Amino acid sequence: MKTDTIAAIATAVGDSGIGIVRISGDEAIEIADRVYRSKNDKKRLVDVKSHTIHYGFIYDSDELVDEVMVAVMRAPNTYTKENIVEIDCHGGILVMDQILEVIIKNGCRIAEPGEFTKRAFLNGRIDLSKAEAVMDIIHSKNEFALRSSVKQLKGAVSDKVHSLREDILYEIAFIESALDDPEHISLEGYLEKLEVRATRIHGELKKLIDSADNGKMLKDGINTVIVGKPNVGKSSLLNLLVGEEKAIVTSVAGTTRDVLEESIRLNGVGLNIIDTAGIRNTEDEVEKIGVEKARKYAEDADLVIYVVDASCALDENDEEIMEMITDKKVIVLLNKSDLEQVVSEDRIIKKLTHVSVIKTSTKENTGIDEFENVIKRLFFGGEIAVNDQIYITNQRHKEALREAYESMEMVLHSLADQMPEDFYSIDLMSAYASLGRIIGEEVGEDLVNEIFSKFCMGK
Ligand code: GDP
Repeated sequence: MKTDTIAAIATAVGDSGIGIVRISGDEAIEIADRVYRSKNDKKRLVDVKSHTIHYGFIYDSDELVDEVMVAVMRAPNTYTKENIVEIDCHGGILVMDQILEVIIKNGCRIAEPGEFTKRAFLNGRIDLSKAEAVMDIIHSKNEFALRSSVKQLKGAVSDKVHSLREDILYEIAFIESALDDPEHISLEGYLEKLEVRATRIHGELKKLIDSADNGKMLKDGINTVIVGKPNVGKSSLLNLLVGEEKAIVTSVAGTTRDVLEESIRLNGVGLNIIDTAGIRNTEDEVEKIGVEKARKYAEDADLVIYVVDASCALDENDEEIMEMITDKKVIVLLNKSDLEQVVSEDRIIKKLTHVSVIKTSTKENTGIDEFENVIKRLFFGGEIAVNDQIYITNQRHKEALREAYESMEMVLHSLADQMPEDFYSIDLMSAYASLGRIIGEEVGEDLVNEIFSKFCMGK
C-alpha cells in the first residue's frame, strides 16, 4: 500500500538544545535528500545504508537553514514500518518550524497528532493496547504509571488478552466442529470440561477488572480528603505530608476556608489530597461554602482521613462527620497525642466499624509511618507488586474486559441451566470479540481515529 509521506516536529516545542523533525512514508528519504547537503555536498541520503546517521546541513533552495544530524531508517524495521528520516536540529521553535516548512514544500504533509503511532498500528507493528501504552508512557505522572505503561508496551496486556482469546476460541472451534461432524467428534462429557475452563476464564477476567481500580489509583493517585473540625491539625498534617508550608496553619478556628489540593507520594503510592475547611455548623458565608465542598469531596473520595483532636472531647460536629463518612474507606487520626488524651479509640470504632485508628502528633511527627502502612494495607493488600501483576490502567480496556466477563457469566448461567451445546458459541464469540477490541481487532475506524487524536503532535 502506498501512503503519503508525513512530517512533524517530534520534540517539545520550546527552546531546548536539540529538536527533532521526523518524516515517515515511502518518499521520506527522497524528500529529505532534496533539502540535505553533506559537508562536501557529495553524499546522497538515498544511497546511504539503513539505520545510519549523517552530518550535514538543511537548505531551503540556496539558503542555509541549520546544521544538523540526519538519521536514515528504511522500512520495515522502523517505528512506523515505513521509511523514516529524523533530522536532529537545534531546538529553537523558529528553526524547527523552518525545517518542517522546507520539508513540506518538498513533498510531504504535516502529520496529524499520533499519526506516526497510528501508522505503526495500521502497519501491524504494534497492537492497539501497545499504541495506547506509548501515549501513557509520555503522560506518566509517577514511577508506577511509567513502569506499568512500559510493561504494556512490551506486551503484558496484549499477551494476556491473546491467551484468553485463544482459550475461548478453542471452545468455540470444538463446539462448532462437533456440531458439524457429530460422527467423529463427541460432545459427551464436554460440558463438564467447559464449565471448569469457563470458570477459570471468568475468574481471570474478574481479576483483571479488579486490578483496574488499583491500577487507576496507582496511576492517577488515590483521591483523598482530609476532614475534621477546625483546629484539630488538618493543615499541619497536610504540611507535614507535603513537606512545605502551603496551607496556613493557625490557632484561630475556621481559617482554612477554601480547599487546598496537593499531590504527594508516600512510599510509591500517590495521594491527591484535598484539605477541606473544618467541618462544623457555621453561619459565616465563606466558611459555609468550604463546609459544603468538604461534604461533596468526602462523598467522591477514595479515602477519607478524619482528623480528631484527641485532647478535646468529641461533640455533635464529630457525630455529624462520622455519619457523613460511614460508607467510606476511613483512616481516623487521633491527633495531638502529645497532649493529654480524652478521646478513646473505642468511642470511634463503635461509630465507624471499618476504620483504622492511629494516634498521631503532627507537632512531634509521630504516627505518620503507621499511617502510610495502613494506606497500603487498605488499598493494595499491603503489597504493591508492580513486577508480576498486570494492572489494567486504561478505561477502554476495563470496559471491554467487563463485557467479556459478562459474556462468560452468560456461559456459566447457560451451563447451570443445562442448555444444549449449540447454545454456548454466541456468548463465547462475544467474549472473544470484546477482548479483541483491547488489542485493536474488531474496532472501527472511528474509534481508532479517536484514540490517536488524543496523542501529541509528532508521536
Ligand atoms: P486545622 O484547622 O484542622 O487545619 O488545624 P491546624 O493544622 O491549623 O492546627 C491548629 C492548631 O493546632 C495549631 O496551633 C497547631 O500548631 C496545633 N496542632 C496541630 N497538630 C498538633 C499536634 O499534634 N499537637 C499539638 N499539641 N498541637 C497541634
